[in-house]
Amino acid sequence: MRRLAEVLEAISGTTSKIAKRDLVADYLKTLTDEELRIACTYLTGSPFPAGDGRALNVGWSAIVEALLDVSGATGEALDQVYLRHGDLGAAAYDLLHQRRHAPLFRTPMTLPAVDAAFTRMAGATGKGSRQVKIDGMRTLLSDADPLEAKYLVRIITSDLRVGLKEGLLEEAIAKAFDVPVTTVRRANMLVSDIGMVAVMARHGNLDQATLTLFRPFHFMLAETVFTPEEAFALTRADGDRPESLLVEDKYDGIRAQVHHDGTRLAIYSRTLDEITPSFPELHGDLRALGHRYILDGEIIAWKDERAIPFSALQQRLRRKDPSDLVGTVPVVMFAFDLLYLDGEVLMDRPLLERQKALRGLPLGGAVQSAMWTVADNPEQLASQFREARDRGNEGLVIKRPTSRYQPGRRGRQWMKLKEELATLDVVVVAAEHGHGKRASVLSDVTFAVRNGDALVTIGKAYSGLTDVEILELTRWFQQHTTKDLGRVKIVEPNIVLEVAFDAVTRSDRHESGYALRFPRIKRIRDDKTADEINTLDDVKRIFEHQGESRGGLSPKLAKSAKGER
Ligand code: AMP
Repeated sequence: MRRLAEVLEAISGTTSKIAKRDLVADYLKTLTDEELRIACTYLTGSPFPAGDGRALNVGWSAIVEALLDVSGATGEALDQVYLRHGDLGAAAYDLLHQRRHAPLFRTPMTLPAVDAAFTRMAGATGKGSRQVKIDGMRTLLSDADPLEAKYLVRIITSDLRVGLKEGLLEEAIAKAFDVPVTTVRRANMLVSDIGMVAVMARHGNLDQATLTLFRPFHFMLAETVFTPEEAFALTRADGDRPESLLVEDKYDGIRAQVHHDGTRLAIYSRTLDEITPSFPELHGDLRALGHRYILDGEIIAWKDERAIPFSALQQRLRRKDPSDLVGTVPVVMFAFDLLYLDGEVLMDRPLLERQKALRGLPLGGAVQSAMWTVADNPEQLASQFREARDRGNEGLVIKRPTSRYQPGRRGRQWMKLKEELATLDVVVVAAEHGHGKRASVLSDVTFAVRNGDALVTIGKAYSGLTDVEILELTRWFQQHTTKDLGRVKIVEPNIVLEVAFDAVTRSDRHESGYALRFPRIKRIRDDKTADEINTLDDVKRIFEHQGESRGGLSPKLAKSAKGER
């Protein structure tokens, strides 16, 4: 663990991507297979591999309790160091450094020992589990030296803060074991376990990486287009002649990947968490499809043949036991892709073929085929957009019929056309107290879009969240303030919001050079990370395309989408 912590410290000390990659590559070469598997997982800033199914669930207060206990520090001392760094890992470093009774001799902390401790902690559930987790934390922190503790805490809170993206780790693995990075990426897409991929890379058997049932993998994503013309322009830019596009309704629910082997059934969310128990009414129809399969689709709240607002579904997700809401907020799943069928991986087949195979399954009841059609030109797309909106859906997802399924990728193979008025996914960078009855909560937020590795502010919003959401966010902001400027708190850029607005304007009030007119928060996007927000480039594209229709379809198509002549 000491070596890993040193490498992490060295990585955070350089901004050069090549230097980071080389530091990691040199380190990986020195490890045994078991250490390699564990180290790579920790280098992604996570205690367990993505898609592994286990979660530590060690809350902030449990870490703090163990830290105070082991370091002998007071609560006030912790508050002070925390405010200075805005990071619990760095606070742990300081407090353990100052601890009065540091052990004289320490047995070196090995990666397998940390892995075993994490496994024990994750395995504790139900009554008494909090105590098991605190005890686990206490043992880890008392065995660790300050630098180890800093990174243990950061791994446990899944926030490494050293500027090492998974893509760079893939490059480091490729360099360490002298294999092409494309092969490493492909294997990682399929098995969603970078540690396992690193071990395979070392032994030269990356070609054996394949999809495995009950090991969820990242979803293929869509790039935003702001007008129907843009959808066609993007595809034309790559090929010589315009192609027809597959067009599906964009359902406003939660993305789901279903794995079934004839007996076991599992539903995974976009964050690769298992959510099977949340949707009991889907189980029967998913099993009735027979076969061994992996399918991709969207679960939405659905009543009287129409989608009901996402907020209703959110209520269900908050419940451990959804049974009392199954009647009032029933759900259905709209399936739109089939990635594996009876031992055969379909991902590399063209979408058209995958969908044919999907429709060969006995879909029906609570598991239906997504509404789909074909568009040959922007005018058709505009009227399909109107029809989808009339059906109560969010817009369209437009897909190239030849596209392969690329896990974790957002590209122009799939495009989303959401609303007449565009929305942006942004991250909150600062929060401040509101006025009147909101004076005691941090209700006014400043948010940013991404510009390369930087975040640039673009606006401020005051409205759109419920009182409960504001309270929850206030608590989070208080715990994740990196700089306290009095009224304004600079916060860790973690909370992703979807904001609606009337138009993008030029402005020098914000770092981006743009501002949003009448921004309002549509929803908190718990399912997205700050890496996935919109970019400054997207903002420029909205600005250029918004024309007179204030941020949505071009004037002509906006009219036709509304059914006007
Ligand atoms: P967004 O969440 O706004 O980035 O939009 C992308 C999301 O749209 C996907 O992750 C899916 O959850 C959702 N979606 C809804 N309908 C479809 C569809 N027919 N095809 C693909 N994704 C869809």
